[in-house]
Amino acid sequence: MSQNPECVFCKIAAGVIPAAIVHQDATAVAFLDIHPLAPGHLLIVPRDHITSMSDLPAETSAALARLFPRLGEAARVAGGAEGYNILLNNGTVAGQFVEHLHFHVIPRRGDDGLGFRWVSGSYAEGEAERIRAAVTAALKR
Ligand code: AMP
Ligand code: ZN
Repeated sequence: MSQNPECVFCKIAAGVIPAAIVHQDATAVAFLDIHPLAPGHLLIVPRDHITSMSDLPAETSAALARLFPRLGEAARVAGGAEGYNILLNNGTVAGQFVEHLHFHVIPRRGDDGLGFRWVSGSYAEGEAERIRAAVTAALKR
């Protein structure tokens, strides 16, 4: 188990600073986001100080993901919401600010005004096959 004494989420996991914890087990801690996008917005973090998905062991990933259904539903009910997003900002370019990996659970309502302004594109002729091959090659590394 590795911690970073400077890291805010390591401090929360260790009980050094307070948080509104809703679940904890040997691998993971879940607590309310201090600046919620919606009531019930949760963060799920590994106890280990892991910055990136690139460094996340499959077993830890599984231990975090197995919490999604129960915590997602609990956040939805507590937040009086109709659905929820589970997302992870991996890397600064993707919006990661705290350098301790964390999944956001964000309860959603039809009138919440949240949303992604993603403009979807399309593949040019042959490009999807080139990208598919690149992904499968990367999987073999
Ligand atoms: P991200 O941009 O994905 O790194 O999100 C970091 C999240 O951590 C933000 O939504 C913050 O509001 C939240 N956060 C930062 N410090 C704390 C804290 N001490 N307790 C709870 N949530 C926090
Ligand atoms: Zn940490």
